[in-house]
Amino acid sequence: MRRSKRRGVKRERGGSSSAEEQLMRRVKNSQKRRGGGRYKNFLDTEKVADLQFWRPSKETHLFDIIPYKAGSQDIEVPEGEFAYTCQVRVHTGIGPNKRDRYVCLAEHFNRPCPICEDQEELRNEGVDDEIVNVLYPRTRYLYNVHVLTNNKERRKGVQILDVAANYLEDPITEKAQTFVRKKKKMIEKYTNFPAPSEEGKTIKVKIGTKTVPMGGKPTQIPDWAGHDFIDRDEPLSRKILKQAQVLDELLYVPTYEEVYDAYHHEGGDGDEGGTSRKSKSKKSKKDRGKKRKDKKTQKIEAPDAFGDEDELLDYLQGLSEKQLEKFIEKNDVDVDIDELDEEEIVEAIMEEFEGYYDDGGENEEEDEEEDDEGGEEDECPEGYEFGVDCNDYDECQECPEDIYDACYEAKHGDDEG
Ligand SMILES: [Zn+2]
Repeated sequence: MRRSKRRGVKRERGGSSSAEEQLMRRVKNSQKRRGGGRYKNFLDTEKVADLQFWRPSKETHLFDIIPYKAGSQDIEVPEGEFAYTCQVRVHTGIGPNKRDRYVCLAEHFNRPCPICEDQEELRNEGVDDEIVNVLYPRTRYLYNVHVLTNNKERRKGVQILDVAANYLEDPITEKAQTFVRKKKKMIEKYTNFPAPSEEGKTIKVKIGTKTVPMGGKPTQIPDWAGHDFIDRDEPLSRKILKQAQVLDELLYVPTYEEVYDAYHHEGGDGDEGGTSRKSKSKKSKKDRGKKRKDKKTQKIEAPDAFGDEDELLDYLQGLSEKQLEKFIEKNDVDVDIDELDEEEIVEAIMEEFEGYYDDGGENEEEDEEEDDEGGEEDECPEGYEFGVDCNDYDECQECPEDIYDACYEAKHGDDEG
């Protein structure tokens, strides 16, 4: 609720300004969007059914960002003005399976949002910031892209790219802003990379993986690096421009009740008390069993302090929710505690440490990552659950195409209703 100032507030119509001017404004304003939250289906299944989504492979890519005229659901760009990206604020981890994602009704449509309301209430009750903050919607960026890396991609025409800010929007808008020195004055200058004319730029970016320590073991995560602008010697073709989607109109707009029910798990299968923090804490109080007595006195240990998975599990089960959060933070474990109760956090941590103690703490994921040739298509390169977690994590957007497709099919073959 804190970000209400931006909700539904559109800047004034640009009047008769040209495409170039409008896009230049978008480039400049992009800087201001920073810090609008962390990241990320919030897209209308029917509307996107026939669209091609770009899942970049690990290599150096070249692509044009194709501008379009914003529709009525853009939170940044007035309807009818040119835009090159659509910023989407999304609540994640909702619903009985914690996999539903909804556009934040407050930020997008200036309407009451049950999740933001709950967040406000929890804040007023004095609930810890760490818990309250995970309820913020996350930011994703949608683009129309024409990939020029190879003929196969080029022939696909315009594809949709859905990606977190740190992979593309932040680096390119940072790069777009430069300074020109005129005698004693430094003058700000912007590169109008999305311009449809020759002034626009082709984007170059090297997509790969990087290894970072997570939970004490090296883990590979996607890496977009070396963002660069390549001069274009011709304007975007009319054919390509025509293929661009009005990205904001692809959003799925849920009702208040729908989000409310998903968030509080009402009308669901009644598996547990809801994803909301309140119902969670009630549940976990009830469920906190035998180990409760030692919780206050447990120290936060490193995973290497334990000999095997059983020891780690024993230890984790003795920790309070707060201590588990500390454990995750301290050991940089890739677990999003958003909407999880104590037991589920322990489970999630244990998943991260699967195989950790098997051969002296060596990373198995790395090996999986290496043999890309096939056969391992039922493994998620990020360590999430193949065929289950598809599209639920930001990394999914950077998943190699073949793995993504197989994972998507595995997931939607059985659970998409
Ligand atoms: Zn919201």
